[in-house]
Amino acid sequence: MQSILDTITATMALRTQRGRVADYIPQLASVDPNQFGIAVVLPDGQMFSAGCADKLFSIQSISKVFTLTMALGKIGDAVWSHVGREPSGDPFNSIVQLEHEGGKPRNPFINAGAIAIVDAIMMGHQPKETLAEILQFLRFVANDESIFIDDKVAQSELLHRDRNASLAHFMASFGRIKHSVDHVLGTYFHQCAITMSCQQLANAGQFLVSDGMNLSTGIRVVSPQRARRINSLMLMCGHYDGSGEFAYRVGLPGKSGVGGGILAIAPGNASIAVWSPGLDSIGNSKLGTEALEMLVQHTGWSIFGH
Ligand code: GLN
Repeated sequence: MQSILDTITATMALRTQRGRVADYIPQLASVDPNQFGIAVVLPDGQMFSAGCADKLFSIQSISKVFTLTMALGKIGDAVWSHVGREPSGDPFNSIVQLEHEGGKPRNPFINAGAIAIVDAIMMGHQPKETLAEILQFLRFVANDESIFIDDKVAQSELLHRDRNASLAHFMASFGRIKHSVDHVLGTYFHQCAITMSCQQLANAGQFLVSDGMNLSTGIRVVSPQRARRINSLMLMCGHYDGSGEFAYRVGLPGKSGVGGGILAIAPGNASIAVWSPGLDSIGNSKLGTEALEMLVQHTGWSIFGH
């Protein structure tokens, strides 16, 4: 495994077309695009990594996998009255579909869906309490107490909130947001600003590899059925309007973030985190996707076979 990761990292270092870093907030626009990291955790907890796998980056929308997991734990299938589970076919921050579907987001991974999920998990609590819970959950699944929120990124998201604020207010106009829109947005921005390394993220994904159980800690996080369903949502919706392309090229459940990270799950085989800040036109990591494509070619881990 180590030699595969070294080969992938060496190949990626030669790439000149690295995509464009997200520029909607200065904190992300200033990240050096010439970085690449990858970490793979096997079901027994053994980790392999290469490149800047211990460098911290903004996980952004990858956090949505964990808030969905929390929401399912708190309210179970009632989650599906807040968000749907169909691919949107639209960009991650699109508003158009909401108008046609009574303000209900198509899935929990587009921005509108993730904002609705935050509203669902707040359950009358203050943003601070909900955030503490989200952070605690991430630390628990990653088995790592050092994970934190980058407040500068959160403040920057808040300053440039117009699109996300529009989504939240639009949903509120349909009676779909129960808490203060400002509280929900503040919580969402802080969740996006969680900072992790590939190594930490790959650890956090372990429960999705082994039927809901983190085998290296021996702790069950969710039921097998729930793990399977979260994976299916990641496959169908985890890369927004690039989800079909990702399934075609990589063939794994995956969730991307505009910070350039991707968490990919090879059920029964590995939790994989990859990071390279340059994005394709849809907002998914360009080299991250290429690296995962190479990895499945070497390992045969695609859920669709070799
Ligand atoms: N913070 C980003 C936003 O709200 C998250 C989007 C993403 O990572 N795709 O726009």
